[in-house]
Amino acid sequence: MRIDSFGAPLMVSWQFTRECDLACLHCCTDSWPGGRLSDELAADEARRVAEQIASAEVPYVLFGGGEPALVPHFLDTAELLGHAGVYLKVESNGQRLSKQTLARLARLPMRSLQVSLDGVTQEAYGRLRPAASLQAAADCCRRVRDAGLPLEIAFAPTRFSLGEAEAVIERAAELRAFRFNTGALMRLGRAARLWDALEPSLQDYREFLRLLQRKEAELAGRMEFCYRPFHLREGVEEWLREPPGTLSVQADGKVRVSAVLASSCADLRKDSLAEAWDAYRAACGSPDVVSALKTVIYGDLLGHDSVRA
Ligand code: SF4
Repeated sequence: MRIDSFGAPLMVSWQFTRECDLACLHCCTDSWPGGRLSDELAADEARRVAEQIASAEVPYVLFGGGEPALVPHFLDTAELLGHAGVYLKVESNGQRLSKQTLARLARLPMRSLQVSLDGVTQEAYGRLRPAASLQAAADCCRRVRDAGLPLEIAFAPTRFSLGEAEAVIERAAELRAFRFNTGALMRLGRAARLWDALEPSLQDYREFLRLLQRKEAELAGRMEFCYRPFHLREGVEEWLREPPGTLSVQADGKVRVSAVLASSCADLRKDSLAEAWDAYRAACGSPDVVSALKTVIYGDLLGHDSVRA
């Protein structure tokens, strides 16, 4: 495996909390207001993990959730990493990211501030994200740009949102996003439980892929498109060919081998980052893990087969 030659992860994907101010129908992490895990890492524990990430010279950390900015020690953790030269990406629903928070993030080496935008009408957006305000998300996008941060727009294709996909792409370009990020809906978390109501048809996915290809050509040089691998199954197949150098850290410090497997291979509350990295690489080569991943992707647990335009 390529990762056997790496002394540390290339990236840490840190699901910082399961707490969220929204409870979106398509949420793949099952986050919601009150969803905070009872044993999420405390401020001093998160600091210790961040210090190890920085001293191991991991180049890139992605903060996801839940809504990471709801955690009181989120900014301190991001600043510890950023001041050590670690590049950062933060994923947000854009409902409450204040100007002050964005100003602090803007002083760090930020690769991306990603805001989810799944519609251009409150009706479509609010059906997927009950109680969320499209106006608040759009205002947040403008504040991100005003703060000088690189704006990325994420779009989740569902039966409720696909009809506005082209308009969202155009809105993203108007907002001067540098990237439009999407892919097939992931059959994980709450999305898995509501799958029959959410999953687009194969025909809708084909049209969506054609739209992405057309807009990618039209907007070349203005906005990049990120949608490959498109289907989660393709991502897992890539994983099986070459396990990624990404350590996936959960809010409670557990380290997952893959987003589609619930089991963990290490616990950063007890294990050092170096031990977790060794455990991850050992798990990647484990026949049990490979077999479990093949069961997931070939056992029809992820929805439609790979979609082609
Ligand atoms: S999709 Fe994002 S914003 Fe919505 S509940 Fe999940 S974590 Fe929160």
